[in-house]
Amino acid sequence: MIEAQIRELSDVFDVGAHTLGHVVLTRTRDRQAYLEIADAKHWIEDITGRPCSLFCPPGGRYTKRHLRMIERAGYSAIRTVELLSLDWPRRDGALLAMPTSIQAWPHDARSYVQNALKRGALRNLWRYVTHGRAVDWPALSRLLVAETALCGGVFHLWAHSWEIEEAGMWRRLDDVLRFLGEQREAMPALTNAEVCSLISPQGAACPPGAASRDLAALTTRP
Ligand SMILES: [Zn+2]
Repeated sequence: MIEAQIRELSDVFDVGAHTLGHVVLTRTRDRQAYLEIADAKHWIEDITGRPCSLFCPPGGRYTKRHLRMIERAGYSAIRTVELLSLDWPRRDGALLAMPTSIQAWPHDARSYVQNALKRGALRNLWRYVTHGRAVDWPALSRLLVAETALCGGVFHLWAHSWEIEEAGMWRRLDDVLRFLGEQREAMPALTNAEVCSLISPQGAACPPGAASRDLAALTTRP
């Protein structure tokens, strides 16, 4: 993607950082890791002309030390690779950590189970079981969206564009995005930064009344 395209995307999407070279932080010396984290933020901000407040560690791999680096570089939140979650971002020191619901990728059942067990996320595991251990990600997306509409929370889909390309899944992704678009009355679509803005300093999502007021304000923006 060329810089003009990134700039164009930033008109309608948050553009977060993901290091400069998709570097796995835990396999990199500290100084290099910090430069990858900090320089990625400057690079995005130079291109878009907007603040870049979110960082996603490649491969979802990081330690507490990296969290402090991310904080020092000036980010306010990270996005993890926790799957099957409908939770709001959680506070970790000065950062918010945003889990995800689904990756547009044909993970097998073992991957979903491992992802939940590694984090001790038994609610996610239980959610997977109650949704019939579906391995078809578009089908699982629809089930998770339905649960979010019914019970509240945040549905968060993510993907790597090269994986979508390699697996020929653009059409399937398009179908899921269209389905999400159809739910906008019941479920407002927010950027990651907007979701994070609804979390109080204590780490909890705003009370429902305040949240819906804020959501209304955010979603009536031109
Ligand atoms: Zn990545």
